[in-house]
Amino acid sequence: MSVTLVPSLPALPTAASAPLDVLGVPGEINLDYAASAPCARAAADAVNELLPWYASVHRGAGALSRRCTLAYEKARQTIGDFFGARADDHVIFTRNTTDALNLLGRALPAGTTVVTFAGEHHANLLPWPRGSVRLPVPSDPAGAVRALAAALSELRRDSNPALPVLVAVTGASNVTGERWPVAELARVAHRHGARLALDAAQLAPHEPVDLLALDVDYLAVSGHKLYAPFGAGVLIGRADWLDAAPPYLAGGGATRRVGPATHDVTWATGPARHEGGTPNLLGAVALAAVCTALAGADRSALAAREQALLARLRSGVAALPHVVELRTFGPDAPRVGIVSFVVAGWDSAEVAARLAARHRIGVRDGLFCAHPLARRLLAEAAGRSGRRDLPATALRASIGLGSTVDEVDRLLAALAELG
Ligand code: PLP
Repeated sequence: MSVTLVPSLPALPTAASAPLDVLGVPGEINLDYAASAPCARAAADAVNELLPWYASVHRGAGALSRRCTLAYEKARQTIGDFFGARADDHVIFTRNTTDALNLLGRALPAGTTVVTFAGEHHANLLPWPRGSVRLPVPSDPAGAVRALAAALSELRRDSNPALPVLVAVTGASNVTGERWPVAELARVAHRHGARLALDAAQLAPHEPVDLLALDVDYLAVSGHKLYAPFGAGVLIGRADWLDAAPPYLAGGGATRRVGPATHDVTWATGPARHEGGTPNLLGAVALAAVCTALAGADRSALAAREQALLARLRSGVAALPHVVELRTFGPDAPRVGIVSFVVAGWDSAEVAARLAARHRIGVRDGLFCAHPLARRLLAEAAGRSGRRDLPATALRASIGLGSTVDEVDRLLAALAELG
């Protein structure tokens, strides 16, 4: 099926940009990568290879158990290397980004102030202590840098400069796909003696994220958004706060010694301190397999292909007079493969259901776990478009390694029918 909505839709680069193989179901069009990306074949293969060896990690002396322990620790090393972890950083396995940021929230030294922007996903808004500072969403990336500098200067002037400050920002918005100026924000944070935590849930699937190069102190990521199955994520970062914090998951594996009295416990240091209980070996190994596959791929060719698809999607959306895109920054701001929009005169849940039922296209509808931002952008879209018939929630289409021109064109054709 082809669409002639926009005759000059950008072409896709072809040679040298074959996508990394991901699994899918024939006939089903998944344009919801930002929620959970499809599983990479590399991850599925790694899991299948390890399944016969299934045995306990860090707990058994048998050959199977030893192999599982080795595989788990090798996965930690691979993932740490992939994200540019410093030699003395901890790489802690978590369930996902939400879990990683909650772990960090519990590891903050007493008196820490956390500074975020109101445009964050709830996972990066809600784990922080009372008294945290939430800055308004800026109108461009340079405004974010200026606002952070001003807020940190004020904070340092008005409160005890010895108290820690953590800046927590996203690398790319899950609502608009817009990229945030992470390296610049980290520079500002460090100039003011603060640390920076990067929510890389949406950035990591689209471009290399390197702690050292960006000079960020902590990084949180979800395997299921990075082409691995559900259930494994990581928090990577500076060891001192993490080793001094109470264990995130108290229990077996997190201790060195437990005595008879209630509080007679010597907790482990290092990642084990926060990884109580039997770990998710298969999740860790799957995520590591994806990291290895991506490390060996031509990421700039993959990104160029995705950007061409994204341009096709966005210009197709812009050509539909009844569809209005949501955005925080200007239309040309750099972004990853995510587009949120509303269809004038249509309830977004109804559109999503219709796309699924009639066209077998899966997109997301709602406020995308970023209520403050989504509501603000919906109001902005109403003002910009001058339309009074926009719905109260939005739709989101997101693409990645397995996405094709045909899938994008089918979505555009289906949206065109609603005009
Ligand atoms: N941060 C961002 C930017 C996200 O998009 C998401 C999920 O959509 C999260 C954090 C939370 O990820 P998870 O649900 O895997 O914990």
